[in-house]
Amino acid sequence: MIDLINITIKKAHDSLVKGEYTAVELARAYLDQIKKFDKDIHAYLSVFDDAIEQAKKADEIIKSGKAGMLTGIPIAVKDNILIKDKIATSASKILENYVATYDATVIEKLKNEGVVFLGKTNMDEFAMGGSTENSAYGPTKNPHDLERVPGGSSGGSAASIAGNMALVALGSDTGGSIRQPASFCGIVGLKPTYGAVSRYGVMAMGSSLDQIGPFGKTVEDAEILFDVIKGQDKMDSTSIERPKLKVESKKLKIGVPRDFLKIGGIDKDIIINFEESLEKLKKLDHEIVDIELPNLKYSLAVYYVIVPAEVSSNMARYDGMRYGKRVSGSTGIEDYFLSRQAGLGREVKRRIILGTYVLSSGYYDAYYNKANIVREIIKEDYKKAFKKVDVIATPTAPNVAFKIGEKIDDPLQMYLEDIFTVPINLAGVPAISIPSGTKKIGAKDLPMGIQFIADYGREDKLFFIGKNFLGEL
Ligand code: GLN
Repeated sequence: MIDLINITIKKAHDSLVKGEYTAVELARAYLDQIKKFDKDIHAYLSVFDDAIEQAKKADEIIKSGKAGMLTGIPIAVKDNILIKDKIATSASKILENYVATYDATVIEKLKNEGVVFLGKTNMDEFAMGGSTENSAYGPTKNPHDLERVPGGSSGGSAASIAGNMALVALGSDTGGSIRQPASFCGIVGLKPTYGAVSRYGVMAMGSSLDQIGPFGKTVEDAEILFDVIKGQDKMDSTSIERPKLKVESKKLKIGVPRDFLKIGGIDKDIIINFEESLEKLKKLDHEIVDIELPNLKYSLAVYYVIVPAEVSSNMARYDGMRYGKRVSGSTGIEDYFLSRQAGLGREVKRRIILGTYVLSSGYYDAYYNKANIVREIIKEDYKKAFKKVDVIATPTAPNVAFKIGEKIDDPLQMYLEDIFTVPINLAGVPAISIPSGTKKIGAKDLPMGIQFIADYGREDKLFFIGKNFLGEL
């Protein structure tokens, strides 16, 4: 029996190379697990029937002595990231049965390493949401409590790992979609610096904010995956190469935006857990200092103008003509309306309508331009803070995983859940969510997370502090 609970990339790699088990056996162990548990959890939208074939190829590479760290490692991929010849729906009806015609750059890189793709994971439709309840194919359940959401939008990827149905996974993060599900599911999730990872082949949501990133049970796993997928790509003009840096000191200065934590709506147990985490960091010899990020309170307002604006533009391509679902009417323009009406869900429509409004003439300056100006001011807040501190710490989410159905009819309540994660995407800096403990509700232990934020290109500091916090060093 392979121990899927305590497995890491390095442990699996060692076992594969030593011949303790084969990549086929490892893939089979995960597929069995998926068969047993995914009918309840619904982390996957599709499971690949060629997973064993891929594992056989990995075994050949391992036998030839040419295995890299990721050869034979089973991985789950969010359904908005394209894998050639595989269905990619982004959890939308409008792309039901749509088959990708090319590999995303991150996928190409992982294929070169000989990973084993297990399948595509559930998400909020086109990554809009924070619970996976906006999936057109039904929600994913949190493996820690099946009555609760796994977070979102990359909820399927997070649940696949928490449910031991994948070793690592890829997600995308526009305003928290990797970090918040990582926090709700008790795992590690990284939102890289904007531009660190190519966005080529991920379905665009908010192009100025989107980043692909890794999930893992350990910081080291997230780091290994990040190191492989990152890098400049000629297919994404916003991607850049940054030098791999190493933390200069083992004693970090950690900034805490105290005022920002006083905004209402944060569960008191989250605050208590956060304070305990800070104590732990002090004991690890780090210095905790108060900082001010005075304009972060405008982040949600800014985010929910910029995102719908970009969404309304990015979604225009789903018109029933080029790909996906087509509903025919009596004229071409009617086809267009009917296809979008039938193919897109409520949240996506809501954002298209809001976005079209904020970009319309007469409102463009009042909303869209103003939001962009405030975005610059938020960036300045971080710039100033990172002159004084190495990393900033906040909780990842204001609450533990909520119940399925609890917030879905109140979009504003759902948007408030993003309070700690969206400012990071607005600024473009990297952030990681690290498991920080659990809160008992009834018989269930629900995970909580601490978020560390660093300056552009300083993922190394996030990996260092994350490992230190989790005792991985
Ligand atoms: N929950 C946020 C939203 O609905 C973040 C989504 C994301 O990061 N893709 O926009």
